[in-house]
Amino acid sequence: MSGDSALVAGVDVGGTNIQVGLVSGDHEVHERARALTPTSGPDEVFDTIAELVASVGGDPIAVGVGIPGVVHEGRVLTVPNLEQWHGDVDLVGGLTSRLDAPVTLGNDANVGLLGEWVAGVAKGARDVLGLWMGTGIGGGLVLDGRPYEGARGSAGEIGHVLVQPGGAMCGCGRRGCVEAYAGRRSLSGAVAAMVEAGWETDLYDIQEDEDKAKLTSRVWARALEEDDALAQRLMASAVDHLGVAIGSAVNLLDLELVVVGGGLPEKLGQGLADRLEEAARPWMLRPSPDLRFVVSELGDDAGVVGAAALARSAVIAG
Ligand SMILES: [Zn+2]
Repeated sequence: MSGDSALVAGVDVGGTNIQVGLVSGDHEVHERARALTPTSGPDEVFDTIAELVASVGGDPIAVGVGIPGVVHEGRVLTVPNLEQWHGDVDLVGGLTSRLDAPVTLGNDANVGLLGEWVAGVAKGARDVLGLWMGTGIGGGLVLDGRPYEGARGSAGEIGHVLVQPGGAMCGCGRRGCVEAYAGRRSLSGAVAAMVEAGWETDLYDIQEDEDKAKLTSRVWARALEEDDALAQRLMASAVDHLGVAIGSAVNLLDLELVVVGGGLPEKLGQGLADRLEEAARPWMLRPSPDLRFVVSELGDDAGVVGAAALARSAVIAG
């Protein structure tokens, strides 16, 4: 069977949901399935992925998985934002024993950007930063017309670029990373601390009204829309800190495109990309006149399409 006509399953593992799509060689998603991300560790996550892949059918020739962590040669070295994942996990081994197809693993933000690069808003671009806003802040790079992984696959971690030495505690155990100001998990912690200190907010009422177990992107988007003062203040701080990190990345890499993806950008749209551009511009030395900031075009599908593209290229490469 040729690598192009056969179907590949793309899997996007997030802190909240696992999404699976059956993807053809032209990057079209044909079937979709999703489930809540299990919170009891890797084995249950592998079981859920295997069930979701089976449920979309199509007899995929390969399975690609994007996961929010540092990955290297099929192993997950660090996953700060999944519960009960500790140390070094052999994801490819664990999934291969449950699936009848070869498994390829990538970082979630890298595969999200790959999706946008093969089929979305970054198609044809040479120098791109992908910034994924979710439970944490993920990042990926395309440099000189190719996905850039770095010495051992962990390049592009813009979430752990330092914007405030000695500042807020990050999920990675260090202080002052941009994720500590802009990741959803950090924002939830800040809300709790500020409410404790006497601030008022409708965030928790909205969460209850939306029947959510935590402050999801939808909850944040609604609070911002309803001009909740605390939500506005924390989001302004998130945007300011992200601006510092993005401006520094532009100075280092001379980028032409910044793609912003993930739950919150999907809900807030191009307005958020514009705010990030405004926050980043003052820190830039000599940006390209062609530099643009855009929101992910594939939305929820970016990770699925990118994971499938990664697996397909691994099969073709043999
Ligand atoms: Zn960090």
